[in-house]
Amino acid sequence: MASVSSSSLLNKAVRQQYMSLPQGQKCQVTYIWIDGTGEALRNKTRTLDTEPKSIEEIPEWNFDGSSTYQAEGSNSDMYLIPVRMFRDPFNLDPNKLVLCEVLKYNRLPAETNHRASCNEVMEKVKQHHMWFGMEQEYTLLGIDGHPFSWPPNGFPAPQGPYYCGVGANSAYGRDIVECHYKACLYAGVKIYGTNAEVMPSQWEFQVGPCEGIEMGDHLWVARFLLHRVCEDFGVVATLDPKPMKGNWNGAGCHTNVSTEEMREEGGLQYIEKAIDKLGKKHPEHICVYDPHGGKDNMRRLTGLHETSSIHDFSAGVANRGASIRIPRQVGQEKKGYFEDRRPAANCDPYAVTKAIAITYEDEEAWK
Ligand code: ADP
Ligand code: MN
Ligand code: MN
Ligand code: MN
Repeated sequence: MASVSSSSLLNKAVRQQYMSLPQGQKCQVTYIWIDGTGEALRNKTRTLDTEPKSIEEIPEWNFDGSSTYQAEGSNSDMYLIPVRMFRDPFNLDPNKLVLCEVLKYNRLPAETNHRASCNEVMEKVKQHHMWFGMEQEYTLLGIDGHPFSWPPNGFPAPQGPYYCGVGANSAYGRDIVECHYKACLYAGVKIYGTNAEVMPSQWEFQVGPCEGIEMGDHLWVARFLLHRVCEDFGVVATLDPKPMKGNWNGAGCHTNVSTEEMREEGGLQYIEKAIDKLGKKHPEHICVYDPHGGKDNMRRLTGLHETSSIHDFSAGVANRGASIRIPRQVGQEKKGYFEDRRPAANCDPYAVTKAIAITYEDEEAWK
């Protein structure tokens, strides 16, 4: 019934013989980058003579931008600049995964490299020690594009039993979630937790708290690990914010935010101040909360299914139908963090965290 890829059916015992061969002093380093869609990740691997001990020991590299929707004219070589190193949970120690920024032939950031400008903003707001935590929702699909384990012609029972559910009739594809969790821990990605979501075959993992630029770096690598684990199982993870039309929940990337002041005694007043500022820049934020200027979120932020309307800004304690939610515990303790529920599942975390930091520091900077 479930349609999995042919690759996932190859003989894994044969594979294991090769995977356990010794590799001497050599180190495999897999370079990961965001392609010209701003949503998909690409990767390629090279051998280094010794294990790099820090990011500085990993050389720059390049790739053919004309094959990733990234080339400009006849200058198709793009630079890969290593920015953060992780352990490789597929090839194991001492092998590495390395997240890269993409620069054009003139060494300016590629169009979909939002990290460069995010990093500049994060440097400016450093003194606030801004923490983020992002909740990545996603949906598992068979390779036929149909939600994983849904009846081929028809629908599963309506939403209700699936959120945080257990049992074969409630939880579809938990293997993926558990393997991804372990892969993140091994790699050194700051994964915070996971849960089954409201729509069957929809799941969530959270990353954080991360300070500044670390948020985007860790979330992008967590996404890479998710796609890679799904590949092993022969299924696909989509970050589409509304994969199924109708009475099915969409997928978001709630973004939790705090500054040092907010986390300290009486911090609620600073949370409220930040929310006021966000309210004045609602359209600006919606524009960068999905990769298509708000078009993707139009399908999701309907005001139904635990979302606010894309057209209005609202905030409230424990209110999951608001743009911004103050968690109940934060309301009680009068300190902590707030949750921006607007970012779509396929958002670029660099663009989202950058927008939040700009609005917090200096709303006028949007002009
Ligand atoms: P929800 O109740 O909205 O489903 P989750 O438990 O899924 O919340 O996610 C909570 C998120 O909040 C995590 O990503 C976590 O890292 C983040 N978080 C926790 N404390 C803070 C904080 N002080 N500042 C920013 N983010 C935080
Ligand atoms: Mn959550
Ligand atoms: Mn959720
Ligand atoms: Mn949430």
